[in-house]
Amino acid sequence: MPSMRQSYTVTVPEEPPAAAFPFLKQEMRRKGSMSGSVLVSTFVGLLINQAKNSKSAQGLVGLKNLGNTCFMNSILQCLSNTHSLRDYCLHNSHRRDLNNNSRTNTALMEEFAKLMQTMWTSSSSEAVSPSEFKTQIQRYAPRFVGYNQQDAQEFLRFLLDGLHNEVNRVTVRPRGTVEDFDHLPDEEKGKKMWSKYLEREDSKIVDLFVGQLKSSLTCSHCGFCSTVFDPFWDLSLPIAKKGYGEVSLMDCMRLFTKEDVLDGDEKPTCYRCKARRRCTKKFTIQKFPKILVLHLKRFSEARRTSKLSTFVNFPMKDLDLREFASENSINAVYNLYAVSNHSGTTMGGHYTAYCRNPNSGEWYTFNDSRVTPMSSSQVRSSDAYVLFYELASSSRM
Ligand SMILES: [Zn+2]
Repeated sequence: MPSMRQSYTVTVPEEPPAAAFPFLKQEMRRKGSMSGSVLVSTFVGLLINQAKNSKSAQGLVGLKNLGNTCFMNSILQCLSNTHSLRDYCLHNSHRRDLNNNSRTNTALMEEFAKLMQTMWTSSSSEAVSPSEFKTQIQRYAPRFVGYNQQDAQEFLRFLLDGLHNEVNRVTVRPRGTVEDFDHLPDEEKGKKMWSKYLEREDSKIVDLFVGQLKSSLTCSHCGFCSTVFDPFWDLSLPIAKKGYGEVSLMDCMRLFTKEDVLDGDEKPTCYRCKARRRCTKKFTIQKFPKILVLHLKRFSEARRTSKLSTFVNFPMKDLDLREFASENSINAVYNLYAVSNHSGTTMGGHYTAYCRNPNSGEWYTFNDSRVTPMSSSQVRSSDAYVLFYELASSSRM
């Protein structure tokens, strides 16, 4: 049996977020004696001015580049536009989770939440410096010390893992017991494995980002099929090759889930034959996460020496993944809300983010300290590297 994938762990206090339009209140107090209709038109005018002048009130705040930190800024903007995660920080719900357990280290989640709050409530439109946050992430993951260019997807993994660890609702992990669910039907086995996972790893981060993958191994000798269920925090999709021109995201998904033959040195031991046999392996998705992160494997795994700049055509709306579900009748339709882009080569590259503002539904380009409106028709490009999708039923838009 293949070993379990790496499992991850992530965990948060109460102050209302600063009012979104602080000076509106002032303005209203000042003009308290005005007639109703004048007040209404002033009100509307102010709202429009507010939208134009104070970008920050709407999350349209750039992040200063601290020296090759565009990979970090790009991911932070994608997470800032993940509305459930943003609200978790803005409503200070993370503090409840932090207080509920006596962890020694809560600084990463606190700095992350502080940064989100600044990005959504500060009245200045100046770019914000994420240096306090960077101090904490590099304490958690020393590989981010210094100012080298890093991989955005790896950074996302570390960040979510770190946040989860600090707001994990599980304070005492149960002792690892070996339970055998192999006698159960697959669907029940999948549920048991998921609740076993939650006994150890249970947080807002898990609620949002973690799904469950099923791998089925079929013995070519006796036909016995064994199943393994593993949590996943994102899916790394190989880029399908089709001669020239573009490929679709569905092609990449199909390649990812394609039946694979395990032979030679890779031969697993068949449970029934009690011998190593040639087997076929296939992935299906047992549980779809609310937020699905799809990583396009543009970089060669061996030291990132080459990059594929294939245009992968991905849908903005209605990405229907039901054909990859273990069971049918599952809701698996997603809408895109953020993209982390990588332009350039492996030697010299730059990260930006395209994000749909959860309040207005408009798309913006986040290029370090610069934030500019963009047309949704420009979102798809051959720079797309990490895609953020939200399950349609949980979407507010
Ligand atoms: Zn067998």
